[in-house]
Amino acid sequence: MKLILASGNKGKLREFREILEPLGVEIVSQKEAGFDLDVEETGSTFEENAYLKAAAICAASGLPAVADDSGLCVDALGGAPGVHSARFGGGKAWTDRQKYMYLLEMLSGVSDRGARFVSCICCVFPGGDVLRARGECPGRILEAPEGDGGFGYDPVFAPEGCEASFASLGEAVKNRISHRARALAAFRKELESYADR
Ligand code: IMP
Repeated sequence: MKLILASGNKGKLREFREILEPLGVEIVSQKEAGFDLDVEETGSTFEENAYLKAAAICAASGLPAVADDSGLCVDALGGAPGVHSARFGGGKAWTDRQKYMYLLEMLSGVSDRGARFVSCICCVFPGGDVLRARGECPGRILEAPEGDGGFGYDPVFAPEGCEASFASLGEAVKNRISHRARALAAFRKELESYADR
């Protein structure tokens, strides 16, 4: 099966491919498929935004499209940046580093470091069928960034039970335990039972 990934995020593309391609699912980025839309994320939940992105690319291409809407929810900030993770601080003009340094600044002196990454996946088929899956990865925000792997907030997030950040644990470990790995495992089951229908 071939799915268009409704995202311009290279980190997400890499992780989708690494996790789904061994299962025989070919992932083509929206750019490679020639549909380089920037869909406005107007939803108030990860689920809504994942649907908006997948539905827009499916409508534009006439092919099945899958999207991930994800973000980092920090306990001491009441769940922020959450759905606004990509637009945190100075928004899209800011680099990932500027965003996570801003987060560390907001948490300076705060002892509650609890946080979780959330990933919601939505797949929309041209006939209108919709598959959904969600995954979470609990952990904590470090005092300082470490590691140079991954993307986004990976240098400042350590998953539960680990001292090291996602950025220093490496792709193989991240792709076993991350929010996206969990959402993709649930999505795989949805896809399998959809194919058996
Ligand atoms: P969106 O899903 O395109 O709205 O963007 C999600 C944003 O959340 C990304 O740009 C990252 O800043 C952050 N994010 C989502 N997943 C991860 C991850 O696995 N590691 C680090 N940051 C992530």
